[in-house]
Amino acid sequence: MRRKLAAGNWKMNGSLAALSQLNQIARETASLDVETLICPPSLYVSEALTRVSGNQLNIGVQDCHFETSGAHTGDISASMIADLGASHVILGHSERRADHDESSEDVREKARTALAAGLTAIVCVGESEKQRLAKNTLDIIGGQLAISVPDASKAANMVIAYEPVWAIGTGRTATTAEIDEVHDFIRTRLKDRFGEEGANMTVLYGGSVKPTNAAEIFATNNVDGALVGGASLRAQDFVPIVRALAEA
Ligand code: PEP
Repeated sequence: MRRKLAAGNWKMNGSLAALSQLNQIARETASLDVETLICPPSLYVSEALTRVSGNQLNIGVQDCHFETSGAHTGDISASMIADLGASHVILGHSERRADHDESSEDVREKARTALAAGLTAIVCVGESEKQRLAKNTLDIIGGQLAISVPDASKAANMVIAYEPVWAIGTGRTATTAEIDEVHDFIRTRLKDRFGEEGANMTVLYGGSVKPTNAAEIFATNNVDGALVGGASLRAQDFVPIVRALAEA
């Protein structure tokens, strides 16, 4: 049985005051049969966990180092994230692949450490516009999946997020036909490699998901939820997306 997940990535946005959105999201989604997650900037994770304590809203982070500790100024480790009580870590987001030159090998090492620490990893894959126009989408996704997802992955601790780079933060969304094709491909690759575990892994779509397009996206085959950037910053945008997933 695949789990539905509505995940929010706040990126480098938010403030202490903005954490009040978490209380509203937690309250308004409490009765919905959907897993929910917000990943604020790591500085706010501790306070965010305090705010949602006792609620079903999970708190995660947006990256971690591949080592468990050591001389890595500015970085945080998966064991520290688990130590705080956060549950998920986003890895290989296209902004990290671009801004920090992260390779799929780096993502796999980070994911390995995250799984060993007991976290759920959300591994992001996605093609650039140039790669899509060159009809290389499935090759790119297949390569990223093969390298970034570690062998130890299980349905209980691995989530894949398909995020076409050209759809992130641009207001452009992939068509349902495009999403269907890539999600079907991802599911086939996961089943081929992980068998039953791969059949049950949650696969999210990300890229300008909004309250107005969420229901259509969630009706697409093999879409188990969404990784949401901009529309996760405010409860009034995120809650309708969670509701649409619960009703899908
Ligand atoms: C993201 O940050 O993963 C994302 C999909 O952003 P947005 O929803 O703003 O496109």
